[in-house]
Amino acid sequence: NVLIVGSANLDFVIRVAHVPAPGETVLGRDARAFPGGKGANQAVASARAGGAPTRMLLALGDDANAGPVEASLRAAGVRPQVVRMAGEPTGMAFICVADDAENAITVAAGANGLLDASAMPALDDVGQLLMQLEIPLDTVLDCARAARRAGSRVILNAAPARALPDELLSLVDVLVVNEGELIALGGHPGDLRRSLDAITVPCVVVTLGARGCVARIDGEFLLQAAFAVEPLDTTAAGDTFCGVLAAALAQGEPWPQVLRRASAAAALACTRLGAQASIPDVAEVDALLQQ
Ligand code: ADP
Repeated sequence: NVLIVGSANLDFVIRVAHVPAPGETVLGRDARAFPGGKGANQAVASARAGGAPTRMLLALGDDANAGPVEASLRAAGVRPQVVRMAGEPTGMAFICVADDAENAITVAAGANGLLDASAMPALDDVGQLLMQLEIPLDTVLDCARAARRAGSRVILNAAPARALPDELLSLVDVLVVNEGELIALGGHPGDLRRSLDAITVPCVVVTLGARGCVARIDGEFLLQAAFAVEPLDTTAAGDTFCGVLAAALAQGEPWPQVLRRASAAAALACTRLGAQASIPDVAEVDALLQQ
């Protein structure tokens, strides 16, 4: 089974000709609210990947935005365990998506910022614990410690970018980062090989956008090209990658297949608007893999 401990937001998305510069007002179009948040997006991606039951521990506010966020998780087949934060807003994100698929995102954590590990479920049947950094770092640490004790694999998507304490990295089995996040962890700009070598986690996957991904798995290097698609909105590409990676690991797939499947799903997520709304199901991913 896959357990996600992480954030859930309602994303307010506006399409614009270009992302506004500081002080600029841009007239947009197609304004819509989509369920999002890195944790919830990854939970949806894991559930849609099929094969591994997916649960999520999350915090929601007591406002009108909580309902659609929880409903979206359930609709995707995720079993949510919700901690309700009285008097707090549900997390929100404001997202501008430009016509060239570039985006600019502002997130207010709200209830996510109060999630702690006290509501963590028993980990007996959890093979994979998947976390991100949109909840308090202490919570991530506490959950990683509990997973280590229980023998669950700890998968950390170290996003958004920030430096991390050595103790947390020592508890992580699989680290997934993009290039910016790798630099924030002490990587060397422009030198991927040296950056990978600087990370002590046993399995490290670095996603490179349209250039695919590279991984160092127990000392062995793997490369996976991106699948060629027409990108419309790359929001949740990384989240789709992480959720599908966790589900594929839960099913015991070998690493080259894990990376291939995660990349195919992430490419499909780039072709549609929104976060969870853009995440493909297993049939679509299988179809792309067979092309
Ligand atoms: P993040 O969204 O976290 O910054 P990336 O941009 O590195 O992460 O994207 C994650 C993965 O999504 C990539 O490794 C790749 O497989 C896929 N991806 C991202 N952008 C594209 C694209 N333009 N075309 C095809 N696949 C893409």
